[in-house]
Amino acid sequence: MSSSLFRHAVFETSVAKPVNLPPASAAAPEIAFAGRSNAGKSSAINTLAGHTRLAFVSKTPGRTQLINFFRLPSGAYLVDLPGYGYAAVPEAVRKQWRGLLEHYLTRRENLIGLVLIMDSRRPLTELDIQMIHWFVPTGNPIHILLTKSDKLSRQETTQTLRAVRAAIAVYGGQITVQLFSSLKKSGIEEAERVIGAWLAEESVEVELAENLPER
Ligand code: GDP
Repeated sequence: MSSSLFRHAVFETSVAKPVNLPPASAAAPEIAFAGRSNAGKSSAINTLAGHTRLAFVSKTPGRTQLINFFRLPSGAYLVDLPGYGYAAVPEAVRKQWRGLLEHYLTRRENLIGLVLIMDSRRPLTELDIQMIHWFVPTGNPIHILLTKSDKLSRQETTQTLRAVRAAIAVYGGQITVQLFSSLKKSGIEEAERVIGAWLAEESVEVELAENLPER
């Protein structure tokens, strides 16, 4: 089953530098997807979008270091952030990557939530924790998808989930976690429920702000 939330996502634009980011509009809330390269981010986005090639746009030569924006029918945006942690990347590129991600995660006003993709066999790497440290001060939620869960035994999935939950407990409810498998198409409904709630809450807030009496 494919998700309805991310269905009919359409590629809109790619951005290499903070100055080129499209204007942040409250009417166009953004949900960002980040993760180590090879963690399974593109597969997860494609699985959620019910689209076989969508996020592979982001993998075409020249686009892997860019932020890629996909417009959803609701007016919200799915934002695919460049994969990190790829060893063969030259230092200059790594620096630019870092600047772009830090800027986007710490300052983007219409970014309402971060989906962090981790390989369930290697969760919470140093760079994953860096993403968390950049984003937590915004007060917005982070949802961790532990992908490739089909590669773990039942006992390992229980242990991994427990270990990650213990590590994020310090953030209260700001960070949540679930298992996910693009191969088995499992975890789709849970991810949709969490992200759908972020978008629903955001639209209520925008409506309230618009209806405030004028002084
Ligand atoms: P990205 O670099 O984070 O976008 O990762 P990809 O989505 O390209 O996936 C990296 C590799 O992991 C590919 O070979 C995928 O086929 C594989 N992969 C991704 N998701 C899953 C999954 O849920 N289960 C399994 N078994 N393999 C997966």
